[in-house]
Amino acid sequence: MLSDPPRFHSPTWYQDRVEPIPFGAIQGDRSVAVAIVGAGLAGLSIARSLQERGQRDVVVLDAGQPGEGASGRNGGFVFGGFSLDARAMARRIGREAALRLQQGTRDAVGRVRRRMDALDLAPDGEGVLLVDWFGNAARLDGLRRHLEHWAGQVLEPVDAERLRQSVVSARYGGALLESDAFHFNPLAYAQALAGDLHRNGTTVYGDSAVVSLRRTGRGWQLRTDAAVIDAERIVVATGGYDRQLVPALARAIQPIGTHIAVSAPLGDELFDVLPGTSAVYDTRFAFDYYRRVDDRLLWGGRISISDRDPRSIERLMRRDLARVFPSLSGVPFSHAWGGWMSYARHQMPIVGEAEPGLWLASAFGGHGMAPTTFIGEALADAMTGHSDDVALLGRWGRPWAGGSLGRIAVQGEYWWRQARDAVRASTGL
Ligand SMILES: Cc1cc2nc3c(=O)[nH]c(=O)nc-3n(C[C@H](O)[C@H](O)[C@H](O)COP(=O)(O)OP(=O)(O)OC[C@H]3O[C@@H](n4cnc5c(N)ncnc54)[C@H](O)[C@@H]3O)c2cc1C
Repeated sequence: MLSDPPRFHSPTWYQDRVEPIPFGAIQGDRSVAVAIVGAGLAGLSIARSLQERGQRDVVVLDAGQPGEGASGRNGGFVFGGFSLDARAMARRIGREAALRLQQGTRDAVGRVRRRMDALDLAPDGEGVLLVDWFGNAARLDGLRRHLEHWAGQVLEPVDAERLRQSVVSARYGGALLESDAFHFNPLAYAQALAGDLHRNGTTVYGDSAVVSLRRTGRGWQLRTDAAVIDAERIVVATGGYDRQLVPALARAIQPIGTHIAVSAPLGDELFDVLPGTSAVYDTRFAFDYYRRVDDRLLWGGRISISDRDPRSIERLMRRDLARVFPSLSGVPFSHAWGGWMSYARHQMPIVGEAEPGLWLASAFGGHGMAPTTFIGEALADAMTGHSDDVALLGRWGRPWAGGSLGRIAVQGEYWWRQARDAVRASTGL
């Protein structure tokens, strides 16, 4: 049996900004129509979409608290697209179908915005800039056309001079702006969504790790240490944090870590290099991602297959930051943390009905904020009727992710692509 990844306990900057709503544990016996395992944005979005369709006989169970996994520990970029490249998607299901799924994620950006409005939450900033690491304008324009053709995504070119109004770094050429995208405090959103679900009849439980599930005559039975839940249907949305419950899912995903550090308050020092409010990531495979949060810098990047302590995360983030903003290389960090993403070999989400009444929603990779919301809609449609989108997503299947060797291969590929990007950057090719 595969073991669960460690939970990355170091506190995040988001936790300091959010008054926790403690969700108590489920006790005793319950019978429900739908039980959702995992209160990350996948589980919560499915619960919200089911609630909007009138299905309230739903419980959501989390081993920790809502948003305690990747959904409340991430970079906070809410943008369109999936982890898999748009052309590779089209190769598998055809361009029209791929464009439709891509559009679903962009619609979801708007849906998150509307849900935030209703929850009285505001974005931290507008727009996401994809900055050109390689200083190659022709290549950047090729990428713009690629995304327009294969993803139906129209990004606005920003030349180097205009970019300096937002990001002041000699590192970059121009950029592409996704103006509808935005960035936010993901933990605040996850907790507010969970609270609102709860108030409207979908019970959300924390500290309720599901330790087993089994099929019964009527549906499925889940067990926690303190409760037995009979459900007509269940949804397993446990991201990269569980490798036990559904063996067919566990063998198809790899938990992959990524890291973030947040600086101490910086004032003008930060505004001098980051005068704009858009979030930023770059055109390398192993890209940096960062944004301003109040007068601090939130800096993320790298992946790893093993746990890292806050000190080593801080060291790595500082090294990356110094290459972009040398003037900030000595800034103190107040927080450093990691989180687990779940990846399938094909880099697309694993979504659909694996067995009668057992639904899966996992493997959102590093692109989860909008896609979990899109999949929430699609899965709720599929569970209450039919969804072409879920049928399309099912075409990627659940190929074996390679077990321990697969993990080493992921790290190897990351290093290889990182090295290739470094050669490209130095040769301009
Ligand atoms: C550091 C970092 C930065 C990222 N940055 C971005 C970004 O800027 N933009 C973006 O779009 N995406 C980003 N991502 C990816 C995004 O966070 C994920 O794709 C998304 O949050 C996945 O949501 P999820 O609900 O599937 O998983 P999670 O949020 O991990 O939720 C899974 C939940 O299941 C619970 N669970 C596990 N096992 C059990 C069990 N047995 N019983 C009960 N509950 C269980 C866990 O406690 C957890 O709360 C980032 C990820 C990380 C880690």
